[in-house]
Amino acid sequence: MQTLRASKCGLSTAQLPSSILDVIDALTKAGYEAYIVGGGVRDLILGLNPKDFDAVTNATPAQVKEVFGRRCRIIGRRFELAHVYAGRELIEVATFRAPPKKAVTSASGMILRDNNWGTIEQDFVRRDFSINAMYYQPRKGIVLDFCHAIDDIKNKTLRLLGDPTLRFEEDPVRMLRTLRFAAKLNFNIAPEILEIFTPEMTQLLRDISPHRLYDESQKLFTMGHLNRVLPMLIDFGIWRQLFADISPDISTFIERAAINTDQRIQIGKTINPAFFYAVLLWKPFLERCDFYLGKGVVPAEARAQAGLDVLKRQATRTIIPRFAETFIREVWEMQTRLLNPKPQQIQALSTHARFRAGFDFLLLREKSGDDTTQGMGLWWDAYQQMSTDEKERAISQYNRQRAKSRRKATTEDVVEAKPVTAVTEIEPLVNEPEPRSRRERKSRAKSEKPVQNVASGGSEIGYDHPILKRKRVKRDLSQVIFGPTQ
Ligand code: ATP
Ligand code: MG
Repeated sequence: MQTLRASKCGLSTAQLPSSILDVIDALTKAGYEAYIVGGGVRDLILGLNPKDFDAVTNATPAQVKEVFGRRCRIIGRRFELAHVYAGRELIEVATFRAPPKKAVTSASGMILRDNNWGTIEQDFVRRDFSINAMYYQPRKGIVLDFCHAIDDIKNKTLRLLGDPTLRFEEDPVRMLRTLRFAAKLNFNIAPEILEIFTPEMTQLLRDISPHRLYDESQKLFTMGHLNRVLPMLIDFGIWRQLFADISPDISTFIERAAINTDQRIQIGKTINPAFFYAVLLWKPFLERCDFYLGKGVVPAEARAQAGLDVLKRQATRTIIPRFAETFIREVWEMQTRLLNPKPQQIQALSTHARFRAGFDFLLLREKSGDDTTQGMGLWWDAYQQMSTDEKERAISQYNRQRAKSRRKATTEDVVEAKPVTAVTEIEPLVNEPEPRSRRERKSRAKSEKPVQNVASGGSEIGYDHPILKRKRVKRDLSQVIFGPTQ
């Protein structure tokens, strides 16, 4: 172990937010050891802007709770941690961990429970990469480096601690982390990792819960180097594990969306990771729509059903939370509305909560060479820049053109263009699916108006009336048969 001078590594307390210093100081004052560890230290040494700072200590989570009282919450089962609220920030405080006991690993060697407290030396060997295992004590101005990690930082090498096969078996998510850090930091993956990082090895990801994989996919989407990591996901066989039904090739649309996401992050704009899922799943969604249309299902129903099917299939790999699912389906539904808007709804559409995302999606499609958008991406783009008068003129013109093309389509049944007057409200983009949990169902029912029972003279049926407790038919995923296009 070598002790480095923090200043020699380019570190100073001036770079640290008061929240992390506050946590380190409080633990030290209570007589515990406390360090900053992980990505915060790594990124500062590399001259990058750390996403967050994690602390590590010899105090157990219960002792951390004693120090911070109501500002602290203990979370996690497999990996118990203390969350400490410092101002508006949240700092993760982990306890030094010893190697896991044999009894809590699965047959394939995966660690199922990891709450065996230990020393700093033991904690070090439990970390993933050398560059993530530097312990920084800002008040003492020192960095503890157990494995010459500083050289790996200088040589831009991503090296797993210990035997790579064992480390991947212990926690297959480390494969995703390998690609994430290699892409984010533009580091080389050490040869001993490359040697064992085979498509067979990625099969281990099947044992990881879809919840954890969704979290990891979000980190991949939002790290600012999505465009760099996408081909790596394909090359290393991770893509197939994360997105089973999305063919592993990066279309211009996906590539543009990835570049766009990275650019937004670079300039500090917010991004919704669900947007990228909407992009990835767009092609499977269209194919599924075609499947239903081919069976004679009406278009609106075909889209609704296709959306549900595609998201359900994806959920077997990465569970997409309900709000994100709704967002994705709304963005897709917006495509139909924006492509062929009713003239009297144009204004209302442009102020709809999902307009921005739907429009960005449409424009991305158009700029990627998708001519089925019929130039409506640019039309909406121009529309937003217009004054009120110009907007009215643009809508009238659009109205005339629409009527003309309709006349062309059917000569007998001429639809005369009506002048645009009132703003019509637009219907909901998607019907909210049935809530998953009983609690969600109850709260939704509460928020909905009680139904008037006309037959019984207008007496109300309460939200918990048995007649409203519809049984939810559970669908067996194996029964979702995809059409020949899949
Ligand atoms: P980021 O910039 O994404 O926050 P990070 O390295 O800080 O990167 P975290 O997920 O915040 O990553 O984890 C903090 C630290 O905890 C890591 O640097 C690493 O030392 C350790 N760690 C996290 N996940 C694992 C894992 N799966 N296996 C071993 N160590 C891990
Ligand atoms: Mg971190």
